[in-house]
Amino acid sequence: MERIERGIGPIILLGPPGAGKGTQAQRIAERYGIPQISTGDILREHVQRGTDLGAQAKDIMARGELVPDELIYGMVASRLRHADCERGFVLDGFPRTPAQAGWLDAFLEHEFFENQHREQCLPIVIRIDVDYNQLLRRLTGRRSCPTCGRIYNIYSQPPQVPEVCDDDSSRLVIRNDDREEVIRERLNAYELQTKPVAEYYDSKRRLVSVNGDLPVDKVTAQIMRVIEDHRADAANLS
Ligand code: AMP
Repeated sequence: MERIERGIGPIILLGPPGAGKGTQAQRIAERYGIPQISTGDILREHVQRGTDLGAQAKDIMARGELVPDELIYGMVASRLRHADCERGFVLDGFPRTPAQAGWLDAFLEHEFFENQHREQCLPIVIRIDVDYNQLLRRLTGRRSCPTCGRIYNIYSQPPQVPEVCDDDSSRLVIRNDDREEVIRERLNAYELQTKPVAEYYDSKRRLVSVNGDLPVDKVTAQIMRVIEDHRADAANLS
């Protein structure tokens, strides 16, 4: 994929678990040469390393509930302060509550916009919409590579050899919270706590939706178009 070197600012991907945020975030990150920041991945790393934060988050995540905002803020702030975020970054899985969205706006205002043109750096907020039955199928079919993080789906994007990563031959794993009873809880948390985040951005006229029921490359094409349109508008404003 062609890589684009100009600055891009924050990109936020919204959508229910299983909408394809991780896959699309990886593609955006690769195309624009910016980091993908997934709060779910960072939390899973903490759980694996057995940090204090990991110990506090572990059982909550296993139940499919949201980790309290106060635990998330410090973690996100320290990640966004890394030098690799200066040109922009793509957030996947954050913000997950309207309070987190408000926190992010304040953080960007105070820390990110300091040395940048504000209009060029307002977040691009993209929601990936997917039919509920498709979501269940995607979540139950999801597999990931524990070594490189690549995501597969046994129905729609299977690896060449079943259960083995194409890139590094690691045995693929099923996420702990991709079991059916936990999946329902995660979708509930989305309906109750995360859906209002889209309303938050919509009320600020910053939300764009794409059709996530289409094949993965078509979803990517829609997202890239949204990003490029936004950049063209920002360039005209400056
Ligand atoms: P994900 O990989 O984004 O589906 O996240 C997996 C789990 O991590 C979620 O079910 C939550 O328990 C937790 N989590 C991830 N991101 C957040 C967040 N922004 N706020 C609260 N909990 C989160």
